[in-house]
Amino acid sequence: MAKEMVAEDLLKQLGVEASNAGACTGKWIDTDGPELISYNPTDGQPLASVRQAKIADYERVIGAAQDAFRDWRMLPAPQRGEIVRQLGDELRAHKEPLGRLVSLEMGKILSEGLGEVQEMIDICDFAVGLSRQLYGLTMHSERAQHRMYEQWHPLGPIGIITAFNFPVAVWAWNAAIAAVCGDSMIWKPSSKTPLTAVAVQQIANRVMQRNNLSGVFNLVIGRGSEVGEALLADRRVPLISATGSCRMGVRIAEVVGKRLGRSLLELGGNNAVIVMDDADQELALRACTFGAVGTAGQRCTSTRRLILQKGIAADFTERMVKAYGRVNIGDPLDPATLMGPLIDDGARDDMMNALQKVREQGGEILCGGNKIDRPGFFVEPTIVRAHEGMEIVREETFAPLVYIFEVETLDEALALHNDVPQGLSSSIFTTNLISAETFLSHRGSDCGIANVNVGTSGAEIGGAFGGEKDTGGGRESGSDSWKIYMRRQTNTLNWGSEMPLAQGVEFDL
Ligand code: NAD
Repeated sequence: MAKEMVAEDLLKQLGVEASNAGACTGKWIDTDGPELISYNPTDGQPLASVRQAKIADYERVIGAAQDAFRDWRMLPAPQRGEIVRQLGDELRAHKEPLGRLVSLEMGKILSEGLGEVQEMIDICDFAVGLSRQLYGLTMHSERAQHRMYEQWHPLGPIGIITAFNFPVAVWAWNAAIAAVCGDSMIWKPSSKTPLTAVAVQQIANRVMQRNNLSGVFNLVIGRGSEVGEALLADRRVPLISATGSCRMGVRIAEVVGKRLGRSLLELGGNNAVIVMDDADQELALRACTFGAVGTAGQRCTSTRRLILQKGIAADFTERMVKAYGRVNIGDPLDPATLMGPLIDDGARDDMMNALQKVREQGGEILCGGNKIDRPGFFVEPTIVRAHEGMEIVREETFAPLVYIFEVETLDEALALHNDVPQGLSSSIFTTNLISAETFLSHRGSDCGIANVNVGTSGAEIGGAFGGEKDTGGGRESGSDSWKIYMRRQTNTLNWGSEMPLAQGVEFDL
């Protein structure tokens, strides 16, 4: 009851009245779709519920997004940037309750919940600057008195599918950039975190209403198999940006690829840290502990494998095990807590199943390994001594479970490092310049993100974020990631009185 009150109170602070609605075009759609209950992972109790969108609701949403696109693309990009600046300000004003709601519904500790909202604010700031920098190149034409250049045009209404573990930041990575690019959008959030989605939509609604706009930011909460599939197959949606498991990514690539649509895939990771004998061990220990235990191992960039050079392996492992003993596990809203619960019972079962395979495949559990007997979905953070050839290590288990390997050389470490299907984040701890540069070179890490003396977990918005191999190849957030949200047009302009053809082709009538 107390928790229900907290959710209700937070939603009220965020201006959410229509918490029953699961679809929005700027105005909430009064749907009679099936109820979706959001559960608090800390005690397993219901927080609140929303009505899920049905196909008819989806149709209204896509219609609104198409209409809005036609007008939104006509606003000069810096004016779109001004609206995104206001969105950032509205998020600043609501950082505290929204961050709390993220922690309450998803289970990450409060500083991470607040950090997630800060990430939304940061990407809005980035997008405002970007709105004046959607640059195209100019080229020298091979033909006399001709000019060639390229320009970037808005793409259309885009689909944004998000995972439960970053319930609001990933929307913002896509939404802020897509908005300045001139796209309208339809957001399908995870069904495990509908309340934060409703709250963010309401924040965006207020900004748009103040500017007499609607239909740019749209929401559909509903089943993946129903509205999710409708979105994937919809030819009116030229780009699907999707964050989630590799399994989900394969489905998206299949359906969107079949209609020759564009997909931006941000999928699972299997991130490793290499710790060399010459590393600053204190630094490495802090980064590895946060990487493996932070967010209860539920980040795509969480550290899942530690590859330790022989000279420090025993000592480092012992210090990790000791550090795990000091991790305060509990209510994510309690400032003393360092690790909250897993998202649901299914996630706990996945971890226990993985540990069963660890035992069968000859791994040694050095600490943890159990569910915690209290309400909610808590587990012990777990360290496993692993060996090459353990199949389970190749899978992403979305939980605080880390595998430790011992190696002799950097070459051996790199081979082990790259020998998994996923390729998201990676890191090496070393004070040796040659080891560091080798790790970053083309024969080093095969991941989209490679760090030196910085852990695998977490990233700043300024860089392009994403990974290779089964992680899907997509890039979001900073750098030139904006280009996928626009269509490129190459233009050739003749300012002379002749009509020369390229490559010297003659065609005289
Ligand atoms: P998930 O794959 O279960 O779900 C992700 C989203 O896809 C949800 O919104 C879900 O409803 C939707 N979905 C599933 N099937 C669909 C379908 N057929 N059509 C349309 N939508 C569909 O993932 P999850 O458990 O929410 O999140 C955890 C996973 O996400 C992990 O694998 C994690 O590594 C990954 N992740 C990746 C990144 C990244 O940037 N690479 C970031 C966060 C999370």
